[in-house]
Amino acid sequence: MGWSNELTPGHEGYLVGLKACEDKRARMDGYRELTPMDDEDTGPVAIVQVGCTCGWRSPRQDGAISASWWGGMMHASDWFLEECRKTWRAHAIATVYADRERAIVKT
Ligand SMILES: [Zn+2]
Repeated sequence: MGWSNELTPGHEGYLVGLKACEDKRARMDGYRELTPMDDEDTGPVAIVQVGCTCGWRSPRQDGAISASWWGGMMHASDWFLEECRKTWRAHAIATVYADRERAIVKT
């Protein structure tokens, strides 16, 4: 599962599951991102972010009733994934556009 668009090279979006964590893997906000290493740790995921391969993350949001982690990846209902894809697409288009603006200013 991932989102890409030929107009936004370098950006591939996906749903990120967050897990409360107290060890050194935790980020500043006390959560860590689930990874394929968490394969055995399946179940509902209450908090998610929309992520992008460029490193961008959306604000945290409720994982909706359908969001769950299994098989080393996030799963969710089609409508929720569509909302997340729109969030990612807005990021990717805005970022690519801003990069082009900067490139034009430099030349
Ligand atoms: Zn991106």
